Amino acid sequence: MAQRRYLLSEDAIPTRWYNVAADLSSMPPPPLHPGTGQPIGPDDLSPIFPMALIEQEVSGERWIPIPDPVREIYSMWRPTPLHRALGLERALGTTCRIFYKYEGVSPAGSHKPNTSVPQAYYNREEGVTRLATETGAGQWGSALAFACGLFGITCKVFMVRASYDSKPYRQSMIRTWGGEIVASPSPDTAAGRAILEATPDSTGSLGMAISEAVEDAATRDDTNYALGSVLNHVLLHQTVVGQEARAQLAMAGAEPDVVIGCVGGGSNFAGLAFPFLADKAAGSDIRIVAAEPAACPTLTRGHYGYDFGDTAGMTPLLAMHSLGHGFVPPAIHSGGLRYHGMAPLVSHLVHTGLVEARAYTQSECFAEAVRFARAEGIVPAPEPSHAIRAVVEEVERAEQEGVERTILFNLCGHGNFDMAAYDAYLSGTMTDIELPQEELDRAAAEMEGLPTLG
Ligand SMILES: *Cc1c(COP(=O)(O)O)cnc(C)c1O
Repeated sequence: MAQRRYLLSEDAIPTRWYNVAADLSSMPPPPLHPGTGQPIGPDDLSPIFPMALIEQEVSGERWIPIPDPVREIYSMWRPTPLHRALGLERALGTTCRIFYKYEGVSPAGSHKPNTSVPQAYYNREEGVTRLATETGAGQWGSALAFACGLFGITCKVFMVRASYDSKPYRQSMIRTWGGEIVASPSPDTAAGRAILEATPDSTGSLGMAISEAVEDAATRDDTNYALGSVLNHVLLHQTVVGQEARAQLAMAGAEPDVVIGCVGGGSNFAGLAFPFLADKAAGSDIRIVAAEPAACPTLTRGHYGYDFGDTAGMTPLLAMHSLGHGFVPPAIHSGGLRYHGMAPLVSHLVHTGLVEARAYTQSECFAEAVRFARAEGIVPAPEPSHAIRAVVEEVERAEQEGVERTILFNLCGHGNFDMAAYDAYLSGTMTDIELPQEELDRAAAEMEGLPTLG
């Protein structure tokens, strides 16, 4: 009988995070202060982040130790299993080997607690008693509410209106773990009130919700801000995923030819892929693929330049692929992939050719999610269905080329709270949104006048 799951014991939980910055031949351009246009320093960030995370954000050290209390909480669900997708391989009739790292076994049902736990920990260590954040699909909000609860910190979540309305049980989960939650745009902040005045029926966006959470944190002494993706320290925390996957693939006697993840802000992708990137930098011909929605095509159709991380223009300017900070993505079911920007590290890797990007429509992704659920049992979150679509494309390619490949992807969350999306797909009412070029041009025009990248 072929082995289906590769499990590590608790003492194999990584003891350190891997910082890809140490192995890059060139670094992404630095974040700039929105007022002065100069590179930001620690003092610019200290009003909303604890110093430990600011240090990780700019660190050049290859390995950063994971504090014992964080590792102990990780042991609630880590190490996560690596699955051989035997069922999917059979359904596809392929001789390619497909493996997936399953992060849906965490309490929140996704990879997000890998970073919410250390973020809550470092904030509490520095005396912070309240955290404000945004959430798209609700995954990050629930992960942070869970972590804050463990450390006795209050958690305020601004949840994108489109998801707030379509995923009421994510709200319940946040409240169950003790979090406070409001739909964004909300009347609780100046940024939210301004948007509501202009567009009272706004479906919200991650960019708007970030503006609200940053404003909340910046205007209260007891409150810091926490971000669930995009920033270097968030990607760093996720590298437990790829480190474990490497050890598990070694158990299986396998080496990946292709590593795939879906990208919203880039963190689950980075968490799996970065520990394999050192191999690529050292000359291995491993390919690394980032899969995004055609309705929010940041890497495949966005501009690479400086842009704000939020809608209101309060955050530092980040060097990234962006659709423009005012871009409001269509209300697709992959709420976690509706972000106008991208992690500067991931953008840099795409820009320098180390990472490939592809975009897929939501119906073609749901078709693969349903095939996957029937073959593997697990119902994927809508976000990693993009990774599964890319896996199938890789299998088709390999068949055409007459080669057998080993493919690894991140099944970064389960879809048990996303049944309305599956209903839409199964009843044939799901629609795909084509973004006209003029709309993207209009959104990108907002980046004009901001610093550019050569
Ligand atoms: C948040 C989330 C994403 C998108 O965020 P990344 O930082 O790109 O990983 C994707 N999938 C799931 C399940 C999520 O919760």
